[in-house]
Amino acid sequence: MDITRATQNATRRGNPDWFSGTVWQDPIVEPPAPSRARAARVAFEPGARTAWHTHPLGQTLHVLQGVGHVQTKGGPVQAIRAGDTVYIPPNEKHWHGATPTHGMVHLAIHEFDGERHVTWMEKVTDEEYAVAPTG
Ligand code: MN
Repeated sequence: MDITRATQNATRRGNPDWFSGTVWQDPIVEPPAPSRARAARVAFEPGARTAWHTHPLGQTLHVLQGVGHVQTKGGPVQAIRAGDTVYIPPNEKHWHGATPTHGMVHLAIHEFDGERHVTWMEKVTDEEYAVAPTG
């Protein structure tokens, strides 16, 4: 058994190549092989969001705090709130983030396929981000 203490790993700032705005990441689940489980707590400040991307084995998001937006390419922007859980199937192009006026914190859960966790694509433009949610 191994206990990772709260002070052990520093909070990381989201890479500006892959995120718009300010995003803070705390790794939570990064066990050694053969485990493939991964999870991180990700905090988006108001206006912050991921770029468009896919996950090879899919992803589950569980909102811990605040209000956010999530969108699959070609689908509606949907509002998500604390307690909501979002499942994104493998290779489905999507983004997630805060709303323009509220921060959002989620747990991001996925499996590592041995090569990659995510394939990053273009940024979500201000025009795409400004679309009001339907849900
Ligand atoms: Mn994702």
